[in-house]
Amino acid sequence: MENGPDSMLPRHEVTRHDLMFGVLSLAIASAVFAVDMFTDIEGAVAVLYVMALLLAAQATNRKGLAALSGTFVALTLFAFFFGSDPPGDLAAFLRLAVALAALLVTTALLLRNDRARSELLRTNAALRESEERYRSIFDRTRVALWERDYSKVRSYLMDLRARGVSDLGTYSQAHPDFIAECMGMVEIVAANEAANDLLGTSTTHAPAGVMTGFISPTSPAMTSILQAIMDGARYFEDTVEVIGASGGTKSVLLSIGLPEDPLSFNRVIVSMIDITQREEARIALAEAQAELSRALSAATIGVLSASLAHELNQPLGATGVNSQTLLRWLDRTPPDLEAARRASERILRDSNRASEIIRNTRAMLSAKPQESERIDLNTLVIDTLSLMEHDLQRERTTVDVIKHGELPPIPAIKVEMQQVLINLISNAVQAISAAAPRERLITVTLDSQDQEDFVLITVRDTGCGLGGEAKEKIFTPFFTTKNTGMGMGLSICRNTIEARGGSLTGRNHPDGGALFEIRLPKEQADA
Ligand code: ADP
Repeated sequence: MENGPDSMLPRHEVTRHDLMFGVLSLAIASAVFAVDMFTDIEGAVAVLYVMALLLAAQATNRKGLAALSGTFVALTLFAFFFGSDPPGDLAAFLRLAVALAALLVTTALLLRNDRARSELLRTNAALRESEERYRSIFDRTRVALWERDYSKVRSYLMDLRARGVSDLGTYSQAHPDFIAECMGMVEIVAANEAANDLLGTSTTHAPAGVMTGFISPTSPAMTSILQAIMDGARYFEDTVEVIGASGGTKSVLLSIGLPEDPLSFNRVIVSMIDITQREEARIALAEAQAELSRALSAATIGVLSASLAHELNQPLGATGVNSQTLLRWLDRTPPDLEAARRASERILRDSNRASEIIRNTRAMLSAKPQESERIDLNTLVIDTLSLMEHDLQRERTTVDVIKHGELPPIPAIKVEMQQVLINLISNAVQAISAAAPRERLITVTLDSQDQEDFVLITVRDTGCGLGGEAKEKIFTPFFTTKNTGMGMGLSICRNTIEARGGSLTGRNHPDGGALFEIRLPKEQADA
């Protein structure tokens, strides 16, 4: 009757067993009714319906039982009032009452018993279902899982603790076989496919084995696991080296969920995630980073020396030219002392500039921030052009300076700004001389009206303009299209300007030639 319609369990087929109980119950009930109805036996004959009820309980459900109980009550009453021995005395009424009470009490007990049984079966079914679900997750997941029995090792560790041992690190040093001994006590109850794949073991062999062999007893992780069990920790997780069946090692993330209940230590779940590749990638990345930082420091030194060589080239070149001029004036008879003086003044100026460049580079390298000055852009351009006088004359190039608006002083470092302008103007001179001879003109504009917060300095030439590849790469260090070029000038210029909060861009002018634009903030908080 456990599978009645009001039960949550699936209905099962009526068995021969059910049929037999049903028939027997009916036979007894009929016999009881016949005796009760047609004989004068003075006794609570109807009590015997209880037997029929007990038998029927084996074959029917709760509703059937209730219906049957009702029928038996009705039959008892019918036999009492219409039977061969009609009711007359008190004793007969009492017998009736006893029979009815027996029937009702039995029905109530049977119904309660049935409910309890149904509940038990339902719980069992749910338990079975959950166990199956757990089993299928355990078997199918791609995470390597083991069910291990740690109960022996736990008892052993608890005994040790009771004897006053608390630090297993020290204890295992004094007892070299301790860890291996403990590992021998851990039994593998089950292992899933992923676990067998990970360690290269076979499914048939894995269960019922012990944990020895896969983790080296000398591994510090083993001591930590045992310590965690001894300390009553809930969880253990660490990266561990495991040894596969073939003898190869793997890095795994080992997790053990340790139960609170000591009785559950016979089914502890252990998981491992293979992180060998991740570990290898991490090591490779660390090596690559170290390599890169070595390469970067080499590159920094390279860039720095290239930058210094580039910047010093101009003043040193000019010093050489002026020294030759000086000698020529002195070699004259009589020597032209006035011209010689002018030449030596230029030498002095250029060598001062060279020292200033070196000083500036050193200051740039030192952690101390450089003090910026307030620079008048007009003076800056005039001074720069005077420094380049020789080059411009040699290349027969004219420079026009055009101003738009009132130019406010700009917070910057003079020598830095000179370097930037010299670079841009030298490039322009070279671009013009490389192009077909035509008007050799460079236009420098100083504009305070272009944008509210910035002044705009442009350098435009009438040269060949930026070629296809150059347009993309001119600011990339070491990009050059010149045979003797170093490709550092523009990248240094852009860094310098950006470090002052400005910007440097380059493009072709619609009317031909290249146009470089520097934007510098008018008011800038000194970093
Ligand atoms: P370098 O002058 O040593 O080549 P730069 O960084 O100053 O290094 O310039 C990089 C490249 O940009 C040059 O080789 C050239 O191709 C291009 N370039 C720079 N200025 C101009 C310009 N005014 N006109 C045409 N091309 C230019």
